[in-house]
Amino acid sequence: MPYKDPEDRKQQGKIYYLKNREKILKRSKEHQEKNKEKIKQYKKQRYMINREKILKEREKYYQENKDYILEQHKQYKKDRIEQHREYKRQDYRKRKKWLNGYKILKGCSICGYNRSPAALEFHHNGGKEFTIGECSSYGLKRIKKEIAKCIILCSNCHRELHEKKRKKMITKEGINAKSKTQ
Ligand SMILES: [Zn+2]
Repeated sequence: MPYKDPEDRKQQGKIYYLKNREKILKRSKEHQEKNKEKIKQYKKQRYMINREKILKEREKYYQENKDYILEQHKQYKKDRIEQHREYKRQDYRKRKKWLNGYKILKGCSICGYNRSPAALEFHHNGGKEFTIGECSSYGLKRIKKEIAKCIILCSNCHRELHEKKRKKMITKEGINAKSKTQ
């Protein structure tokens, strides 16, 4: 028996672990992957058998560390909100970039203007479900579907068109015909 002293054995085990850490972790991971279902079943069984005890211990731990746990929860929530905001920001940029590219590509259906996306607008030819804008909370897929019902107009042509529409000088069919010819 090389290690009679349990302290000594513990120490040697520690050294062995540190020396072969990579190898041990890899083997352990492989074992876990291979026996995924079995381990899951085993854990479930253990839980069912020791349920009362586990719940009691959990409750005890909670009571003893209440402040810490609540603080952790608060932090987690804060992080999630920040994460969500960042996701929204990215989504907004992505949508804006795509919409701007689309506007420039199409240009005004009446006069052909295509210099600045800021001066190009979506005009619905009917069947409007929502206004298209980068602030819209809908995904790109849904926005693209809505865009299919629109033509692009520059701000000037858009204002003019709405004025004419107000004066009933032009019908919806008229705009459709015009946008198709360009
Ligand atoms: Zn125009």
